[in-house]
Formats: sequence, C-alpha cells, structure tokens
Amino acid sequence: MKAAVIREYGKINLEEVTKPVLKDNQILIKVKYASICGTDQHIFRGEFHPRTQLPLIPGHEFAGIAEEVSSNVRNISPGDKVTVDPIIWCGKCAACQAGHYNACTTLKLVGIDLDGGFAEYISVPSHMVYKVPEHVSDKNAALIEILSIGFHASARAGLSANDNILIVGSGKVGNSILHAAKTITTGKIVMADILDERLAMAKSAFGDIYTVNIRKSDPVAFVKEITGGRGVDIAFEAVGHEKEIEGRFNPVRLCINAIKGGGKVTVLGLSDHPSGILMKELIWKEAMIISSRVSHGEYAKVIESLDKGTLHPESMVTGIFDLKDAQKGFEFLENEPEKHLKILLKV
Ligand SMILES: [Zn+2]
Ligand SMILES: [Zn+2]
Repeated sequence: MKAAVIREYGKINLEEVTKPVLKDNQILIKVKYASICGTDQHIFRGEFHPRTQLPLIPGHEFAGIAEEVSSNVRNISPGDKVTVDPIIWCGKCAACQAGHYNACTTLKLVGIDLDGGFAEYISVPSHMVYKVPEHVSDKNAALIEILSIGFHASARAGLSANDNILIVGSGKVGNSILHAAKTITTGKIVMADILDERLAMAKSAFGDIYTVNIRKSDPVAFVKEITGGRGVDIAFEAVGHEKEIEGRFNPVRLCINAIKGGGKVTVLGLSDHPSGILMKELIWKEAMIISSRVSHGEYAKVIESLDKGTLHPESMVTGIFDLKDAQKGFEFLENEPEKHLKILLKV
C-alpha cells in the first residue's frame, strides 16, 4: 500500500509500505481523508524528537471505511464509515485507574508514537473506532478528532449556556473550541490572534463573534468594553507558545487579565518554555487555571452534533491535497499560516 512517510525532518514522501494485517479485536480501515494537525507540524519540524521515531507515518486525524473486521468485534461492521480516537493509555497508572485515561503518564497516540493514518490502510483496536453516520461527509469525519479537542476543553472549563468567552489563538485548536462553544453558549465570543486573515476565517464561519488583533489593540481592554467592565467567564489559551507581543501580556497572563473575578482560564498550548504569570492577578480573582489535553470520550458528542447538523467544520478547511502531495500541504501550513488553517489529505 501507499503511505506518506517522514524519514528525515522537513520531508514527507509517498512510499510503498507493507499493508497492515488485521489482528484479533482489530478493525482494518481504508482511509479516505486525513487532516494535518498542529502536532503533525511539530513532528514534521523535528520538535517532537526523540518522542517520535523515524521513519514515521504520521496522521492521528482521519476517517474512512471499515474494510475488514476481526470476528470478535461487535461495535463495527464491514462497510461502516468510521473514525479513530488515537489515544492509547496504559490502564495501570494512577490517572488511568481513576478513569482519567487521557492524563495517562505513558499516553501514546496513533500517528505520533506509532504509525498513523496518512496511509491507504490502518489496523487499530476496535475500542478506538467510532461509527460515523453515512450522511456525514468523509471530509467532516476526518475532523472529528480536532473537534473533540474543542469539546473536551469546553467540558474541562465547565462552559455553560450564557457564558461569555475569550479564545486566544485562532489556529486549529482555537477554531475547534469556537465550533464546540457555538453549540453550547449563546454568550459573547471573542477571538484574538495576531493575523487578520485568521480572524477573518473565524468570522466568516460565525458572523456574530467579536475579533481582535492583538498587535493592533489591547484584547483585555476590548473584552472589558464589550462585557460592561466585567471580563469574560472563561478564557481559553490556544496559542501554543509563551511569547508576548510588545505592550501586551503573554497568552496565559492575557487570559488571566481578561476573565471576571472567579473566572476560569483553560490552557491547551504545548509550549516548551515557561509562561510568566503574576500570581496576585490570579489570586485576587480567586480564579482557576485548568489544563486540557486531547479528549476524554467527547467523540460521541461530536458525532452526535455532526449527525444533527449543528457543526460546520468544513469552514476550517482551507485546502485539500492528494496524499502524494502531503509535502506541499505541510509547506503551505508552514509558509502561509495566514492563508491556511486545516489541510486535508485525500487518500
Ligand atoms: Zn491533532
Ligand atoms: Zn496510564
């Protein structure tokens, strides 16, 4: 079969590789679409070294058709449209034993720690496979993983119906939070970023959100202005680095300053460097900082929302490439972040 393989960082090429064989309790999936994630970009650049071992077939966001199903599998039948929750937990550590398996101390992901879905076929344990309704498009099915990140972050934050929120970072994660939040709250949503083009993309999907360019105006002042001086109930940090724009706070501290007294900050960005925060700004508000990692059973909720037609993730897709042109997809994301958000690979 064909697969897109990273053999050296910065390069991903289509290669002929061995087709996986179906094992006990597994489902062999013929992949239709896969999506390039921010994590894939980190891997591509070599920033996940040595966690990722080369050669690697990346891809943890994908969907396709169940081609072959092991005889002891009950949840999926051959021909079903399916997607995969890529997380693999140990079941033995303290987090796993408490049912908090996405915080497993040895958490692994398909497509990061082992070969993933940028391939014609992949075989995975049946408990990781979710059936997707036929009428949901293959493209949208490949976006279920990224949407589950937004739903999980909303759940971690305890987002409820009338909450006003700020999302810092209008990238893939920020937009997945936006899509999820739109199914939960009718309150005010502010999206902050440094790229006008990214903000315009979010605004074109949801005309009633507020956007603010952090370089041009102070997002904290903006939030105060539209909430009558109150601040938002929840601020999400989805930037992925700790750097600050001149004259502004770093992303986490910005969130702390934008929330109301007793508000919450939910952090998702995986920076390799510390973020400076002033504790009294947090303590005086008796605010909470909550972290959010991957997802914890939110696939079912995302699939249900897609089934009902309340989610429109296609607005995140800015390009579709054939699997053989994966390199081009990665280069577009690296070189033109103002133009590209989600790139799908057609397998
Ligand atoms: Zn991802
Ligand atoms: Zn564990």
